[in-house]
Amino acid sequence: MTDEGTGADNPELIHVDKEFSRCLKCGYEDGFHVSFAAVKDQRAEVILICPRCGKRYGPGWRVTLV
Ligand SMILES: [Zn+2]
Repeated sequence: MTDEGTGADNPELIHVDKEFSRCLKCGYEDGFHVSFAAVKDQRAEVILICPRCGKRYGPGWRVTLV
């Protein structure tokens, strides 16, 4: 089964305890690219993207755009 290229708009929600630097899908261990998905009122949600397989993760982090 492969889901490459699908689900791009729906990051897998994860809970980060200490550090999250290893992709759960492909095992890449050197961290992630970061994207920001606008929510509203200058707020955005952080999306982590694996640079190797493109898997997207949503750690639930919110940031304020200023
Ligand atoms: Zn990956």
